[in-house]
Amino acid sequence: MRVRWTSFGILLLYAFAVVAGAQAQGNTIVLKNGRRISALSVSRDGDKVRYETAAGTLTLPSAIVDHVESGGLPTIPGETRSGTLSLRPPDAAANDPALSAGKNEVEARLLGTGEVDRGYVAALENQAREGGEPASSNAALAHHIAAQLETARGEMELALADEQQAVRFAPRQPAFLTNLAYLHLRRSEFTQSLDYLEKARLAAPNDPDVAKLTGWAYYGLNKLDQAVTEWQRALALRPDAETEAALKKALRDTEEEAQYKENESAHFTLRYSGAAEPVLARDVLRTLERHFAAIESELSYAPPDPIGVVLYTQQAFADITQAPAWVGALNDGRIRVPVQGLGSVTPELSRVLRHELTHSFVQQKGRGRAPAWIQEGLAQWVEGKRSDGTAAALVRMAAGSPAGVAAHFEGDWMKMPNEGAAAAYAWALANVECILHSGGMTDMQRILDRLAAGEAPEAAVKAVTRDDYAALTADTLEYLRKTYGN
Ligand SMILES: [Zn+2]
Repeated sequence: MRVRWTSFGILLLYAFAVVAGAQAQGNTIVLKNGRRISALSVSRDGDKVRYETAAGTLTLPSAIVDHVESGGLPTIPGETRSGTLSLRPPDAAANDPALSAGKNEVEARLLGTGEVDRGYVAALENQAREGGEPASSNAALAHHIAAQLETARGEMELALADEQQAVRFAPRQPAFLTNLAYLHLRRSEFTQSLDYLEKARLAAPNDPDVAKLTGWAYYGLNKLDQAVTEWQRALALRPDAETEAALKKALRDTEEEAQYKENESAHFTLRYSGAAEPVLARDVLRTLERHFAAIESELSYAPPDPIGVVLYTQQAFADITQAPAWVGALNDGRIRVPVQGLGSVTPELSRVLRHELTHSFVQQKGRGRAPAWIQEGLAQWVEGKRSDGTAAALVRMAAGSPAGVAAHFEGDWMKMPNEGAAAAYAWALANVECILHSGGMTDMQRILDRLAAGEAPEAAVKAVTRDDYAALTADTLEYLRKTYGN
């Protein structure tokens, strides 16, 4: 999101929920083999221990769990920007009788260690190549379980590769197709996701998860009416709080946008209030396409599906986004911008569009894993903002309260006091400037690629720049002093 940036130290909050899910006290499951698993919550369910991670609900056989410790903050992998996708994976247990033959053994073997036993998976694959059922089913199931384990560990690339293999061995199994669709949704690959969901629906016409995820894919493609239909269908099949919240939001949007006009260009679907000028809408699309080309070449990446943009009157923006009055624009999967009274794209509106569009690129290239400081730092930088106005204050701040200079590295900016948020934006920009100054945009691309593959933010930054956060702070201060002369 983009705040109305006046001067450093003035109220500069940012709109919205990094959907942190539960940042509450977490739990640690300690397995008998000593391995520890962080979880948001843990419950017992028959002979299984069921636990929630940000990536979804997973189960382990009770037999391999030694005990559960409570307390301590869990790390939240897969944290996403507001509204984009705060979606838990389907509880994709494969109940097909064809899979039950070796199911217990395969489960025990893979879940028993909590690690994916690649040798075992490969052996099952070899058996499958030699002879049909049930070997193929076992190989498919092994990959599916491996995909769930990798998801829980935040290894999203591995999870995707495993689920693709599962579907290759069992092409009509709805649980595998649904999970594969979910993994594509996490990558903002909505069209691809719909392909698998259609196949899943053929095999399981009344599966609520299929309807729920299909709604999400349509929502991502900016097809609100179809999203609403699917979510209503999903709720009729099974009550679900996540779907209910999504449906409520989509209904608010469809109601507001019922009278809106629609326009599109190569990479955007634009909706705008009848009160806005058609000339402005065309101008906005032309501006967005120009920024799209520029950001695409900066990041060597292009989002695969069209990006939704909505232009509002000031009042409708406040009503719909429920953002405080000082929020300038935001990006919650769709770019939402108030344009009241404008007849054409002003330089200020152009900057706003560039900032919000950067969020769409970073969100998708980083597979939803870029931390707030990289998102906001890069969006400000691409928008054209530099640290000249804030460098002196940042240097003073570092001398006065060394602890304050690291707060913005951690996930949830929503919990910061106002001055903290103002500082967070300024530090984020300064850090990004420093990284770009020494390693250029290639370094930033490499960091985003590592985040996309599931690496933790500080590790990704260190692998590319050789700086951990403490070193990055020191380098940033030196950069600020040299560049802006403090
Ligand atoms: Zn922003």
